[in-house]
Amino acid sequence: MKTKKFKTIFINFIYIFGLVITGCSEDPGIVPIYDDKGRLQVQMDSEKCKTYQLEELIKRFKKRGFVNFRISYLQDVYLGIFVKENEIDSISINGETSFKNNSFVDEKSVVFISIHSKKGGYEYITNSVNGYLPIMYQPHELDGKDKIEAGNCLKQLGFVNISYYPIQDCWNDGSSNFNKTDSFQVNYTPDFREYSFFQIDSVIRINYHTVKGEYCTNGLNHEYIKNNNDNSFTCSTCGKTLYI
Ligand SMILES: [Zn+2]
Ligand SMILES: [Zn+2]
Repeated sequence: MKTKKFKTIFINFIYIFGLVITGCSEDPGIVPIYDDKGRLQVQMDSEKCKTYQLEELIKRFKKRGFVNFRISYLQDVYLGIFVKENEIDSISINGETSFKNNSFVDEKSVVFISIHSKKGGYEYITNSVNGYLPIMYQPHELDGKDKIEAGNCLKQLGFVNISYYPIQDCWNDGSSNFNKTDSFQVNYTPDFREYSFFQIDSVIRINYHTVKGEYCTNGLNHEYIKNNNDNSFTCSTCGKTLYI
């Protein structure tokens, strides 16, 4: 009888404790706050952020009006001895690791989160704000990737105007860097940060290594289609016309 009572109390305790946690995670009453310049109030403290689990952290930032996230999975959890899976390693807003409840930032800002994990890789959550998206990658971050794969990375973020520029410096198609990316540009410049913002139809140019030849802006060869009137052919992608 006594044991049973203890059990009941214990269960009640867990129940109440559980309620407290749930109440906390619901984060009541929080809405995005903007200043008169349209900047977003962070409403989070950089130190306190690290105490949350990933999902909870993202949920909290979203509730405060943030829409862009880049999550790096560090792949550093082996036995769970030194670090625990899903624990936050570091967090920054646009590269700034120190922020306070009353800090104000651009509403398009990117929240960068790196997390202890078994798996590796990155996750991107992007939403355009007034037609603008964060570029999320540094100019050389896609280096070494297959050109089309690199282009797809940027397409997946929501950018729509991706083109490819051939650097014709490979001896042959067996060269180790054949078709691999060597930096990319946005609006004709490599001068940007991973949290820089661009309009979704900005000109993005993937530079890639290939052999000598004539290449289309789609990263492949021109695909010429014969015109009706004369002996001319026009590429269906870039519009380049060839006369024979
Ligand atoms: Zn490079
Ligand atoms: Zn073409």
